[in-house]
Amino acid sequence: MKKVKSSNLGYPRIGEKREWKRALEQFWAGKLEKEDFLKQIEEIRIHHLQKQKNQGIDLIPVGDFSLYDHVLDTAVMFGLVPKRFEYGGGKVSLETYFEIARGTKGAVASEMTKWFNTNYHYIVPELGEVVPTLVENRPLEFYKEAKQKLNIEGKPVILGPVTFVKLSKGYNENDFKSVVNQFVPLYAKILHDLQKEGVEWVQIDEPILSTSISKEEVALFNDVYQTLREAAPNIKLILQTYFESIDNYQDVISLPVDGIGLDFVHDNGQNLASIKKYGFPKDKILAAGVIDGRNIWRANLNDKHSILTQITEFVSKEQVIVQPSSSLLHTPVTVKNEETLDEVLKGALSFADEKLREIVILAKGLQDGKTSIQAEIDESTKAIQALNESSVRNNKQVQQAIQNLHIYSVNREADYKVRQSIQEEFFKLPLLPTTTIGSFPQTQEVRGQRLKWRKGEITTTQYEEYIYAEIKKWIDIQEELGLDVFVHGEFERTDMVEYFGEKLAGFQFTKFGWVQSYGSRCVKPPLIYGDVSFQEPMTVKESVYAQSLTTKPVKGMLTGPITILNWSFVRDDISRYDVANQIALAIRTEVEELEKNGIRMIQVDEPAIREGLPLKRENWESYLNVAVNAFKLATASVQNDTQIHTHMCYSNFEDIIDAINALDADVISIETSRSHGELIYAFEENTYDKGIGLGVYDIHSPRVPKVKELARNIDRALQIINPKLFWINPDCGLKTRGIAETVGALKVMVEAAEHAREKF
Ligand code: GLN
Ligand code: ZN
Repeated sequence: MKKVKSSNLGYPRIGEKREWKRALEQFWAGKLEKEDFLKQIEEIRIHHLQKQKNQGIDLIPVGDFSLYDHVLDTAVMFGLVPKRFEYGGGKVSLETYFEIARGTKGAVASEMTKWFNTNYHYIVPELGEVVPTLVENRPLEFYKEAKQKLNIEGKPVILGPVTFVKLSKGYNENDFKSVVNQFVPLYAKILHDLQKEGVEWVQIDEPILSTSISKEEVALFNDVYQTLREAAPNIKLILQTYFESIDNYQDVISLPVDGIGLDFVHDNGQNLASIKKYGFPKDKILAAGVIDGRNIWRANLNDKHSILTQITEFVSKEQVIVQPSSSLLHTPVTVKNEETLDEVLKGALSFADEKLREIVILAKGLQDGKTSIQAEIDESTKAIQALNESSVRNNKQVQQAIQNLHIYSVNREADYKVRQSIQEEFFKLPLLPTTTIGSFPQTQEVRGQRLKWRKGEITTTQYEEYIYAEIKKWIDIQEELGLDVFVHGEFERTDMVEYFGEKLAGFQFTKFGWVQSYGSRCVKPPLIYGDVSFQEPMTVKESVYAQSLTTKPVKGMLTGPITILNWSFVRDDISRYDVANQIALAIRTEVEELEKNGIRMIQVDEPAIREGLPLKRENWESYLNVAVNAFKLATASVQNDTQIHTHMCYSNFEDIIDAINALDADVISIETSRSHGELIYAFEENTYDKGIGLGVYDIHSPRVPKVKELARNIDRALQIINPKLFWINPDCGLKTRGIAETVGALKVMVEAAEHAREKF
């Protein structure tokens, strides 16, 4: 009998202790010779293959590893080097590769954007400048490497042509089909050469199939894959989708490929429902993504086994491959090194390595029957049960509050128009008030002091005194600059989510739970593992101190519930909706504490609202309802003369403007300086009618702007936006900037504001 196969779609690149990141950054800093760098990287890559082999994974991905990003890898494989970088053809050098990703003195880096609905960012390929040619067969190289070094029959992973072009820019949408067709012969050649080498399995990723795509695009898939199959008829080609269900199920399962990979975790049950409704072709392989590739929780193996057995009512066992729902790139590497974590929590976690074990167990269970894995099933249910029964998941007070949510108002006492005049009277701000977004430079010194305090080298009092001195210093600077609304500067915070996570109940932090965000940058999301609740005031002391130093209003500064949710790993035993509301209630208490203590402008940042949007349009509304409701729950209880601000980064707002309006914040500040012209129209008075600060300069650059430039941005905005609603501010927090450039830029900003006021 053929064995039920286990497979993986991609393994985290960063290493158990971020060895990969360290190697990269040392190389970039010139502290590591190229040869040594490549040797270290090779060791890491081989080690990852070895680990997967040791776990007993049958189909081990090769070519998924990257020195920066797999989309960029694909682009350079086709020689797609934008003209502003030096490139003489042939295989793209390591230097050029990093230049595209990171920019040079004379040439800006390629744009970076989010990989579907994850926190991973890819480099956007620039088409249209050069004709794509195949300058290296990357999958083949990595296949050979795995074979030679470890005798592994690797499964090359390739980003498919339709998704690749969809994610690229530099062509006209109407030419989509012909652009894709430019790439098809190149893909055909890759596959042809792989076949020649004796490759048996290939995974082609086409996650675009999990978004809302048109019928014509599905037809394009048919033509493309017909050609690819003919180029390599002996290869078993798996067309891989992930992150959502597929809409055009019947069309997709009929495509001319050998197998289809489906996500059975993030599909809202749709993929399994489709199989039950329409069946599955007898002659195809079903690569079943049953282990969550996006989260960190141990799988309930009983449930997972049950899904697999339901699948085998429609697909024969021999045709099923057991795998994660997506690449494991989005999970940390291993739970093993988490020595200080609470034991119950640790027992209920599963990172990449643990997930591979679950996959192997499930493949065995499907092959030999449930009893063959009963011990492992019991072990998993027991661990999950222990966490579910622990006190952190059974906070009666929080749970009752969630059940009685209706008793908490989600609407401000008066409408915005009424509040506006009350607040005008109360704050007496000048026209076009100036302010900043919250953080001031987190210098080496600030971070150094925090480190010393964490290590116990200075006392809490000493650390607090230092923070207070920084606050005072910056209140004086703001006074000197003549800003109208101040901030305390956020010196006590490492990160806008972590800071609150450490103070709220229900969170824990891992030591090594890093995931790649972009390039060598990794993030370590907090774990929301229990009921979230307010324990004690989190920001009141600093805000009250700052306010005591000035007669100008100082904005209280909080992170909103949806951003905390979207930037954390979230428990999956209750709905995200409930978790969002738990956080919102905790923030609501903090808002009330601030107000009680005399803080009358409170900013609740929600930079991550947009990035939480579901992949499919049809699910946007319900997500946005949850988001808006949570924000309102957090902010609505204040008096009419307390002013609620919010801030969002990213510039693409047109399509969610109604939701932003519905937040009912008195003032919103957003990042627009990089796409000024296009954006302001989204905020015309008939669509948006509350206070609004469009960032007037780009904080991502150390350059101090000229008064003229800011004046132009302000003028342009004022042609569309009512001056009575307009605020003048930078486009994001200033924590990554230096002191001198920050003061310099703010001086220019205040000057530009004064000029603008003269016109009224
Ligand atoms: N208040 C935060 C800051 O200024 C906002 C950060 C953000 O938008 N990501 O740093
Ligand atoms: Zn921002």
